[in-house]
Amino acid sequence: MRTLKLTEETQSELLGNLLNRNPGSYTEYENIVNDIIDNVRKNGDKAVFEYTLKFDKSELNASNIRVTEDEIKEAYKELDPKFVEVMKKSAENIRVFHEKQKRNSWIDTREDGSILGQRILPIEISGVYVPGGKAAYPSSVLMNVVPAKVAGVERIVMCTPPGKDGKVNPGTLVAADIAGVTEVYKVGGAQAIAAMAFGTESIPKVDKITGPGNIFVALAKKACFGHVSIDSIAGPSEILVVADETANARYVAADLLSQAEHDELASAILVTTSEKLANDVSAEIEGFLKELSRTDIIKKSLDNYGYIFIADDMDAAVDAANAIASEHLEIITKDPYEVMTKIKNAGAIFLGAYSSEPLGDYFAGPNHILPTNRTARFFSPLNVDDFMKKTSIISYSRDALCKVHEDIELFAKEEGLTAHANSIAVRFE
Ligand code: NAD
Repeated sequence: MRTLKLTEETQSELLGNLLNRNPGSYTEYENIVNDIIDNVRKNGDKAVFEYTLKFDKSELNASNIRVTEDEIKEAYKELDPKFVEVMKKSAENIRVFHEKQKRNSWIDTREDGSILGQRILPIEISGVYVPGGKAAYPSSVLMNVVPAKVAGVERIVMCTPPGKDGKVNPGTLVAADIAGVTEVYKVGGAQAIAAMAFGTESIPKVDKITGPGNIFVALAKKACFGHVSIDSIAGPSEILVVADETANARYVAADLLSQAEHDELASAILVTTSEKLANDVSAEIEGFLKELSRTDIIKKSLDNYGYIFIADDMDAAVDAANAIASEHLEIITKDPYEVMTKIKNAGAIFLGAYSSEPLGDYFAGPNHILPTNRTARFFSPLNVDDFMKKTSIISYSRDALCKVHEDIELFAKEEGLTAHANSIAVRFE
């Protein structure tokens, strides 16, 4: 982790370095993924079974590809009941938060007899990918599925890779049950995305695919976009802490490390107006590194993308925060609300000493699927709107159309579209 004075030069060095986290060429992987998608499109289940045997060493067939009720009951027995209760509380917090995002259809009736409106309906069937492989992510299940349920999506399909024993992680299964997933299939990687995008004999075609995954999953989502909707292509995790002399160095260090442990490409950045805090945070990080697990990953990510910047004043710190547009932004200052009003770009903002970032990862209710790689400048967290579609409603009476028919005909003729003009004119012959 390097400590630098915040200047135009060091800030642009940082922004350039963060962009390095997007490997320039995915060609090698893209070819593999495109082959998998083509094969699943052509051969359906047969291709899915072959890839699952090849990559996950698990033998699938039409009768064991879908998780059964008994497997879900078994999964509950394998988990600590306290963890099940915590997942239920978390799901409820996520539900309550996302309920506030719901929007209603509207109709606007005007005096001239015209009616305009917007009908908002949920998509019919959504698909969620849940990574298997190296770890389990029940929190990811809740964050992807609960907003879809709140939106009113009736059928929610989940794909997740099986282990060699043919089983799915019990935490993932119980989270799926709590969140209201309709059906779970034991399929991972690009083949799962292709199956949900195009449908196979066993797996239904969905309208939208959400959820994180490795490079094969991310590229498959990108390739299938257009045939289905997708949420986003998630990049490595990021935290930015903006702090002044009032911040507790131990808390700040702990929060930076909480994101650095995700992977070697994760970024953890502190921008502070206090040189003393900068030094104290460095020392605390060294101390924590002696106590925590995953220190190999943490050390690499801090070496690659860990920064402490000392800013001249809070305005300079805020400008840097807006340029970085971090996935997670913590503001730990004397008056964090005042600083927050100046922040334009961030996925989620955590205010004050007791709003540590993992609170948002697991529990508070706002979604933890957030824009990364500076895309908070134009993207938003996963939300209920992602599972809704909007249809415009237009209804004019003869009188209403009569008042404007000449304007429309003129517009159409100016564009050289005489049939358009005619379809209006014919009503006033
Ligand atoms: P995964 O489920 O994403 O991938 C496993 C699948 O990858 C396998 O089923 C297989 O089909 C496929 N695969 C593996 N090797 C392959 C190869 N050589 N060719 C073709 N396909 C291959 O699980 P994972 O690998 O553990 O990755 C999980 C990822 O999800 C991590 O990168 C993690 O950081 C990310 N993640 C991100 C978030 C987030 O919110 N951003 C949350 C959780 C997980």
